[in-house]
Amino acid sequence: MSQRPPFPARLDFSTGSASGKNGAGKSVAGKKTVTTAVGQGVIGQKPRQPALPAMSSGHGMDSAAVRARMVRNLAASGIGSAAVLQALGTVERHRFVDTALVNQAYEDTSLPIGLGQTISKPNVVARMCELLLGAELARAGPLARVLEIGTGCGYQAAVLSLLTREVYSIERLRGLHDKARDNLRPFRLPNVHLLFGDGMLGYAKGAPYAGIIAAAGGEAVPQAWIDQLATGGRIIAPTQMPGGGQALVVLQKTTHELKQTVLEAVHFVPLKSGIA
Ligand code: SAH
Repeated sequence: MSQRPPFPARLDFSTGSASGKNGAGKSVAGKKTVTTAVGQGVIGQKPRQPALPAMSSGHGMDSAAVRARMVRNLAASGIGSAAVLQALGTVERHRFVDTALVNQAYEDTSLPIGLGQTISKPNVVARMCELLLGAELARAGPLARVLEIGTGCGYQAAVLSLLTREVYSIERLRGLHDKARDNLRPFRLPNVHLLFGDGMLGYAKGAPYAGIIAAAGGEAVPQAWIDQLATGGRIIAPTQMPGGGQALVVLQKTTHELKQTVLEAVHFVPLKSGIA
């Protein structure tokens, strides 16, 4: 039986000491992918913000209560996975957005995170996580290892860290990779590994993945993701449709086929190649 990730204690802000070196600097087959282990590296510092009193965010917001209301709305809108609802109820989304947007952090809306990118709506994050877990996989316990394409501000990586054993999250924009690292550092999640690189190439070093989840939409699912997916695993990716527009696509890999399911229309930022 697989073990549940440490939950939810690790998401509480802690001022305990930690040591270790920044794990950055690994390159993978000349692909310029740099990893930072959020939990083990770069810490030894106090959290950017003081530890939260249980029910107050320091922004004049009762964050736990507002989050609980968001979770009730997610459940009412059809999110049925208790694990997913619990994860979204635990991760403090307001810590991933700019101070000026904190009051909107628990509304079901995407918000700007800089460099023209957005943090996905809570509903979309929940939906994608639920699809990733899938009925059979959810029964088997947390997924072994998941790759997220498009770290952005790091919010979904934090949610995934509660649902999966190991999260590799890759971002092509250096500014956002750095921002995510700063946002996630105080949470001290040893099972989240941030990568700077082109996610269209996947991250071969961490493969095979039980799941791959894309936060940016491309014209097609890159072959590298399919190659790096474990048999029995699934890819959840917003993908451009032949008639225009994007839809959420689920690809399931079995020993003898790749089964594609096209779901509802979505609006994600574009998947781009290269780093910047
Ligand atoms: N999951 C994120 C959402 C970020 S928006 C969050 O919780 O905040 C999608 C992100 O995908 C953007 O930051 C964008 O820069 C990134 N992206 C687009 N193409 C990419 C690629 N090829 N590799 C890695 N990241 C990519």
